[in-house]
Amino acid sequence: MPTMLARITCPNCKQQFQAEVEQILDVRADPSAKFRVLNGLVNFARCPHCGMQGALDIPFLYHDPDKELALVYMPMSAGRSDAERQRAIGQFANAAMNSLPPEERKAYLLQPQVFITLDGLANKILEADGVTPEMIEAQKGRSQLLERMLDASDEALDGLIAENEAQVDEDFFRTLDLNLELAQSAGQLAVVQRLLAVRDRLLELTAAGRRIRARQKMLDRLRADPTRSNFLNLLIEAPDQETRELLVIVGRPLMDYIFFQSLTSRIERAEDEEERERLLALRGEILSIRERLDQEVAEVYEDRAALIRGLIVSSDPEKLARSRFAEMDEAFFEVLQMMLHQAQTDNDLELESRLREVWELVMRLLEESLPPELQLFGQLTRASSEREVERLLREHRSLLTDGLLELLEAGEKDMRQDGRLQIADNLALALRKAREMVRG
Ligand SMILES: [Zn+2]
Repeated sequence: MPTMLARITCPNCKQQFQAEVEQILDVRADPSAKFRVLNGLVNFARCPHCGMQGALDIPFLYHDPDKELALVYMPMSAGRSDAERQRAIGQFANAAMNSLPPEERKAYLLQPQVFITLDGLANKILEADGVTPEMIEAQKGRSQLLERMLDASDEALDGLIAENEAQVDEDFFRTLDLNLELAQSAGQLAVVQRLLAVRDRLLELTAAGRRIRARQKMLDRLRADPTRSNFLNLLIEAPDQETRELLVIVGRPLMDYIFFQSLTSRIERAEDEEERERLLALRGEILSIRERLDQEVAEVYEDRAALIRGLIVSSDPEKLARSRFAEMDEAFFEVLQMMLHQAQTDNDLELESRLREVWELVMRLLEESLPPELQLFGQLTRASSEREVERLLREHRSLLTDGLLELLEAGEKDMRQDGRLQIADNLALALRKAREMVRG
């Protein structure tokens, strides 16, 4: 992400400090950006002098290429003249354009919408997701109720829950869980503990809580005994569609011909007409859930295939790959593998070498995001000569720790077992040389 150092004046103690700030947020390259904007966590900083922390009032551009959203946050406190503001907005638009490969540059980016409050900008993002003002109001209500619960004493909490039980629905639990994730990733242990304590009381005291707990128990039972017969029994026992849907997501690999055969025989053996109707409806429902899930997976695979084709023809594949980094996932490599296999079968040498270039490019970008020891390990596996191995080890002398030596040793063993002898030999050589250097 493009970040820069800015000099900040603390609003509390008026002293200055330096903080890293983000100016361009691209949700496709960094999916966490959306959550951070919606929760006021962009350019969050802590004053080293007085400890005050909060979001800094610093302009930024929010970019969602899939929704063609380009939104600029330009608070009044940025204290600039109209002309200066216009110039800053133009600079953002240009920077966002330049971060994209030529084929992804579109006109909307040159006309970003400008917001002077974070709330206004956040509402625009939500509106693009189909979230209405009423839904935003309801969400505010949930957040406020949750805050009151967090502040309440243990004795007051139960009363507060009883008074507001109607508002504690599954959306309320989602809000709570989001806050929990956030506090966990920020390392706020006291907040995490308080949230967990409130969550426990809610699970026990509210109808929605009891429903969620029962659902979790059924999923645990499936995970503990992932057999077709247990899966089928749980589906029959499940009280609502939400539970059946979660069961199908976890149990999808069990839904094969044999599974449906045993469901059919249950239907045939049903004791009365009512039971038979219920099982028939169940079969229809789980078939349609399965179809929907498979459809979603197919769409992900189609997206990844389109991205790979885009990388092959792009005039700047590296930029394209960086801007779509979040999509370089397991599905991406599965599709790439299939396309490579097909190119080999068709004896299409040109396509095969293009696909290999894509593979190498993406592996390089992934490696960049790894810790330095793992990066060195990857480079050693690919070294083409003894001299290169020596050079790599010398250049990364400080990384030659016991941990890395163990990694090399285990890696060599794995590769030899897999029959990947070239890599195993490289690692064996690297291990020997690294030991010599550490001793010497
Ligand atoms: Zn301060």
